[in-house]
Amino acid sequence: MSSPLLQSDCPALKLIARGKVRDLYEVDATSLLFVATDRVSAFDVVMKNGIPDKGKILTQLSVFWFGLLADVLPSHLITADIDAMPPSVQQYRGQLAGRSLLVRKLTILPIEAIVRGYITGSGWAEYQRKGTVSDIPLPAGLQQCQALATPLFTPSTKAEIGQHDENIHPDKVKEMIGAELTDKVAATAIALYQKAASYARERGIIIVDTKFEFGIDAQGQLTIADEVLTPDSSRFWPLDAYAVGREQESFDKQFVRNYLLDNNFDKQTSVALPDHVIRDTLSKYIDVYTRLTGQQPEL
Ligand code: ATP
Ligand code: MG
Repeated sequence: MSSPLLQSDCPALKLIARGKVRDLYEVDATSLLFVATDRVSAFDVVMKNGIPDKGKILTQLSVFWFGLLADVLPSHLITADIDAMPPSVQQYRGQLAGRSLLVRKLTILPIEAIVRGYITGSGWAEYQRKGTVSDIPLPAGLQQCQALATPLFTPSTKAEIGQHDENIHPDKVKEMIGAELTDKVAATAIALYQKAASYARERGIIIVDTKFEFGIDAQGQLTIADEVLTPDSSRFWPLDAYAVGREQESFDKQFVRNYLLDNNFDKQTSVALPDHVIRDTLSKYIDVYTRLTGQQPEL
């Protein structure tokens, strides 16, 4: 395994933010450099070590989806090709190549646009308690991991660093960004999910749920931001192992979460993951990339 890039270091560029996984730099007045490091977070806590090349896999998978989904909604992507980026960026090619996007600077909407096609995770927990998901009532008698009759838009807040996102009813979003934009975001998020989910299903992968972020561009157009439909922002299940009424095997950070849970780590603790957890997670990420795109990632 190569060594993971835990943090980018590009002193000639203006660092705007380090998220849990990404480092964001300002390139000029209208564009940003969006760098996916190899950091891994679980339960909203960043682990001590990273997963080598994970940032490259996430970046290249997002680029694939931006292309496939462009007829539903344009994305913030300008280029993923380091040779097409300004010289101020190219000087850091050793760190950045394959894991960086030049993107249009957007005004990001203050919500996470989650779409769920199946009932699992926090949605299943809420449904068992209250018969709802994000306070949206669902029919009685749903089983764990059952497909919903239609995909559901279940937005959440975008939490500050160290906080957890909170599910909110779509009406709450209307109070934040207005009814018209909320309806457009909901319909677009569902259309994006449906197109991606039917594509993935033909390749043996169920896209269970996913999180989109949207922004408004300089022309006032709704635009896809952030990463899309990666194993960090989505749940993927192998279709051939799917059965309703129980937990599913998955392609995402299951190995990381299971390791933390099995060893009774406090959910707030950042730990060093053992080699086998890193290797297993990396091979899942490569596996899902290859199944979805039909190609190997460039690592
Ligand atoms: P997580 O995704 O795990 O919740 P995070 O929110 O801390 O982590 P990262 O994914 O590490 O964030 O960093 C990406 C940040 O960049 C997010 O805050 C996202 O809203 C923001 N962002 C994404 N695309 C754009 C864009 N085109 N213009 C401005 N900001 C953007
Ligand atoms: Mg993010």
